[in-house]
Amino acid sequence: MTTSISSSRQAIELENRYGAHNYHPLPVVLTRGEGVFLWDVEGKRYFDFLSAYSAVNQGHCHPRIIHALIEQAKELTLVSRAFYNDKLGLAEKYVCETFGYDKALFMNSGAEANETAIKLARKWGYTKKGIPDNQAVIVAARRNFHGRTTTIISASSDPSARKGFGPFMPGFEIVEYDSIPALEKALANPNVCGLWIEPIQGEAGVYVPSEGYLKAAEHLCRKNNVLLMMDEIQTGIARTGKMLASDHEGVRPDILILGKALSGGVLPVSVVLADDDVMLVIQPGEHGSTFGGNPLAAAVCIAALEVVKDEKLADNAQRLGIVFRERMNNLIRKTSLISLVRGKGLLNAIVINDTPQGETAWKLCLKFAEHGLLAKPTHGNIIRLAPPLVITEDQLHEGCDIIEKSVLSLS
Ligand code: PLP
Repeated sequence: MTTSISSSRQAIELENRYGAHNYHPLPVVLTRGEGVFLWDVEGKRYFDFLSAYSAVNQGHCHPRIIHALIEQAKELTLVSRAFYNDKLGLAEKYVCETFGYDKALFMNSGAEANETAIKLARKWGYTKKGIPDNQAVIVAARRNFHGRTTTIISASSDPSARKGFGPFMPGFEIVEYDSIPALEKALANPNVCGLWIEPIQGEAGVYVPSEGYLKAAEHLCRKNNVLLMMDEIQTGIARTGKMLASDHEGVRPDILILGKALSGGVLPVSVVLADDDVMLVIQPGEHGSTFGGNPLAAAVCIAALEVVKDEKLADNAQRLGIVFRERMNNLIRKTSLISLVRGKGLLNAIVINDTPQGETAWKLCLKFAEHGLLAKPTHGNIIRLAPPLVITEDQLHEGCDIIEKSVLSLS
């Protein structure tokens, strides 16, 4: 059996032949990563401006995180939650103290963390708010992205996430994002147990809500005795220039949902944080996961968060985000190919003057790759640009030069 790949073509052919066709990747085959860079199997170097959908905020293969991974992997990786392990409590304490909550519940993927949040909010609704059995409603936002499980897509408004996958889970109401009147109306329903939103809609195309929206959402949740469930899987862990995007408005969710960069992209680690009055509604045996809270994930998670703090990645994202948007705004003045740039910190997107299918956006991403930068359209004509937060100002300018050169070559 062949055990190594000799060319990009061979790797692509293998994936096409033996893998499910559930993604449409750019034709680049990567084999190595370090910091902000990735290398393909032919040895070409690229700036990574996707960061594995913001999972690699700390940069590829961060030595401190990899060290924690290797050291822990030599000792113990998994015992299940049938027993205690000597790392989980440390990680729980670390995330609780970092984000200011009483309790943490570790899972693996982002979708699982959202599923956990849904169960918590529903159980709280029945046991604390007094919602009649099986009547709990969670209010979600149009254009949301919270993952791919059948329950989560039941709250999606995206036809490509839903079509052919029904029947759907009841108990969700979809409201317009960034509309305070829509929240006022929806949250007044006494059966609502949670408001489930992203502080910036990343996957939808980096939609930043109006200033004050999150604060109003928090206020309306308090007023109506509804839990604010904040999905910070993509926006959290320094990506938007603060540890949490909620911090920009001084908002404290009742249920905080984190994933992705919680491990620096080393292995799937997610967590749900809440105070005791919410978290303790779940009793032993009611929820869990074989791998959730394993000692390997726990050790990696602590190292990954230490890196974010010690290297002041939130400050870097805040400062360089301004530089990035300034560069893109200058570019917009030179071309009609881009209509706008939006974002916070280093979570940004450019909108291409294109068909909604995004043929030009796709071509532009191929051009970026040709010139040594990787990014991908998120929805049709929108390209998300989100480098690892360890990027330096010089590297950011180099990346912007590639973007500029590519855009002008297609203008
Ligand atoms: N929530 C948000 C806001 C996301 O951006 C994502 C992934 O992109 C998810 C949830 C799902 O995470 P995962 O792919 O780890 O299940």
